[in-house]
Amino acid sequence: MNKKSVNSSHPPLYREAGFNLHDSETTRKAFADELNHPHEPENYIYSRYRNPTVVAVEKQIMALEKSGWALLAETGMAAVDIAVSLFHKGKETRPWLFFHEIYGGTNSFIDSVLIKRRGLDIHRFYADDGVYDMNKLEDIIKTVKPEFFYFEAVSNPMLIVADVREIMALAKKYKVKTIIDNTFATPHLWRPLEDGATMVIHSVTKYLSGHGDITAGVVCGNDLGLLKEAIEYRKWAGHFLSPDDAHRLGDQLKTFTLRFEQHCRNAFEIARFLSTHPLIEKVLYPGLKSHPTHPEAMALFGDKGFGGMVTFDIAGSLKEEKTGRCNRFIDALQNHIPLIPTLGEADTILMPIEAVWGAKYPMPGMIRLSVGIEDCQSIIYALDQALNAAKQ
Ligand SMILES: *Cc1c(COP(=O)(O)O)cnc(C)c1O
Repeated sequence: MNKKSVNSSHPPLYREAGFNLHDSETTRKAFADELNHPHEPENYIYSRYRNPTVVAVEKQIMALEKSGWALLAETGMAAVDIAVSLFHKGKETRPWLFFHEIYGGTNSFIDSVLIKRRGLDIHRFYADDGVYDMNKLEDIIKTVKPEFFYFEAVSNPMLIVADVREIMALAKKYKVKTIIDNTFATPHLWRPLEDGATMVIHSVTKYLSGHGDITAGVVCGNDLGLLKEAIEYRKWAGHFLSPDDAHRLGDQLKTFTLRFEQHCRNAFEIARFLSTHPLIEKVLYPGLKSHPTHPEAMALFGDKGFGGMVTFDIAGSLKEEKTGRCNRFIDALQNHIPLIPTLGEADTILMPIEAVWGAKYPMPGMIRLSVGIEDCQSIIYALDQALNAAKQ
């Protein structure tokens, strides 16, 4: 049966696994020709290769990230896998360099997949007291000679803003490729490809989708050769975003900028509120002058905002007391701000750092708040109530 097109007002949802290739000539051509049409195949073949609903949403992300291409995958981790695996060339593989202050899951992927299972030569670049030393980075580049380095503009959970212009200048000087996980900054605050990045990845699960109801990831770039390799890797490694999730994402992306502006406004307001509260020891928010990388944040983001994440410490002076107060605070918040291990949702949610990262960070009473897009006063009211309850 041939489908007749209708005058639909919204992009259609194509759920089919395989597409009708009609005759032997089209079939032959479709398979032979596939990579000659890297942005959109002339004929779709099989959804794991390309799917029109997914391609339509990839174009929306290209417009946001101002990229020459974008490929969606089923999770942010799948996007990480696609991006780095393009540089895995058997015995020819050169060393790779990862900044250490990146998403914990990516650090686990490096340890348990790249090193343990793929046996790759991985190097790490550590921050000193929350700041990256550019001289050290230059030394590492000179000795390791990595194929690429991988970093995030805003780290999790300390919200360190990297001096990205310096980093990109070093990449250019030594002709090192760069892969940037731009999940926290989002294209609203920074578009790394405009500064010469090789590829950008996102956990679309977070701000781009923004409603906590799908998982997705994306890889963006400008180099056409890399696009063809990424298409090839994605289809044979089986990374694929379902058309249903892509279709929902297409709608969610329409409100991305509005949502993110509100995340930034609310987060700044809440960071200010918390930093004047007597029970709060410390607030980490790149918009505050007290943040160690406030100057970097000003230079990179200017007046566009400072992101939607706020990290704070409600510790008292004694260790025992610290833990107790933190627990009382979280328990008092229970019905107002839920404890959910993700971020970037429309609703305000939080995670106690110690529960996720163990004793890696010095402050046991530290809490990571993913500020939502609700009316800001209602979030402040809930926090204030819980802080009062924690006082006793
Ligand atoms: C969540 C996250 C990821 C992983 O994304 P998933 O969609 O959970 O697979 C990668 N990087 C950052 C910065 C994240 O926050």
